[in-house]
Amino acid sequence: GQSLGVHLLDISWYTESMRAGHPVVITDRHKLQLNTYVMELHFLDEDGRGVAFRRAAAVLKALPAQVTSMSQLRGLPCLGEHSLRVIKDVLENGESSEVESTKQSERFKALKILTGIFGVGAKTADRWIREGIYNLQQLRDSGHALNQAQKAGLEHYNDLNQPVTKAEANAIGEIVQKAVISVLPGSQIALTGGFRRGKLTGHDVDFLITHPEEGREVGLMSKVVSWLESQGFLLYQKTTRNSYLESKDGPARPASNMDRFERCFSIFKLTKGEEQGTTQPEKNGVQTMDNRLWRAVRVDLVVSPISQFAFAVLGWTGSKLFERELRRWAGHEKDMSLSSHAVFDNKQNRYLRATSEEEIFAYLGLEYIPPSERNA
Ligand code: ATP
Ligand code: MN
Ligand code: MN
Repeated sequence: GQSLGVHLLDISWYTESMRAGHPVVITDRHKLQLNTYVMELHFLDEDGRGVAFRRAAAVLKALPAQVTSMSQLRGLPCLGEHSLRVIKDVLENGESSEVESTKQSERFKALKILTGIFGVGAKTADRWIREGIYNLQQLRDSGHALNQAQKAGLEHYNDLNQPVTKAEANAIGEIVQKAVISVLPGSQIALTGGFRRGKLTGHDVDFLITHPEEGREVGLMSKVVSWLESQGFLLYQKTTRNSYLESKDGPARPASNMDRFERCFSIFKLTKGEEQGTTQPEKNGVQTMDNRLWRAVRVDLVVSPISQFAFAVLGWTGSKLFERELRRWAGHEKDMSLSSHAVFDNKQNRYLRATSEEEIFAYLGLEYIPPSERNA
């Protein structure tokens, strides 16, 4: 691969588990580390600094050694004036007063609580906060009409804010596997998202579904969802149909970051293992004794035709920041448009075919980056 200068793809973002097991050595100029929690506070901001902070945090996350002085940060990409000011504060005073006052503000606390509801984004949360709604009880009392997703999100708030374990992801994988082969023998599933990157926990479980014969995947999602529903596995689901327009000479140009696969955002009802009647951790002052035999888990299902499968796997493995940087690299350095469907070479004015992630990285002029190193 090439040396990427200011590009974040220069860095490997190992999983926590790899980090614990093997002290990582990246390049000499990246041997630094600082707590990234300080940056996360800015993720919700409205004026576009969010991405800048995310990049800065990703740089720091990749560094295997402790930062003790500002001079160690020299030469690192993506650390802007504001990020450096926060870091300097932390190094000199143990904490950043700016960050601490943000964390303690009612507005920040309310944003955290409200965006913790499935179906509620920063925009909606912000609107509610301006109406004086700061917590779940105030939201319930407000009489706001919630959509189906938000209703389910509120109902299963505690479950959905409890990390999904690898064991739970595996259990759900078995259910999804059973569903797809029941409704269409020969169908295949692939685990994507954070668990494919080797994360030990996640906020949901992501699966990609395909069939080795092109075209057989058409109509598959509704059959899978019906099967899951009939077996009582779904507490909530919203299926969005495929809006990807095929033209004669190939797929339409990727227009935005959003892909157009048929997908299902769902909440699974997962039967618990041996540990029954456990007490859930306290969430926002509400502690509940939990005697249920099941818990709610967010699951994303996506159906891809086999011809786009490699792109879909790459696009749905994440992390979100890694995907953003990869697309930016494709555009800026290679004059190519990369999406979860295809890669278009603007210079040759044609699509490039790929049946593996390795081929896609090769088109982009990059060495293959394994999923476990995509945790930006
Ligand atoms: P977590 O463990 O918290 O779930 P994650 O990396 O799996 O982390 P997700 O939000 O599940 O995070 O996203 C996984 C991948 O799916 C990312 O690469 C993201 O780009 C992709 N993705 C998520 N939502 C969409 C969407 N609406 N459209 C297209 N791609 C999406
Ligand atoms: Mn996920
Ligand atoms: Mn997801």
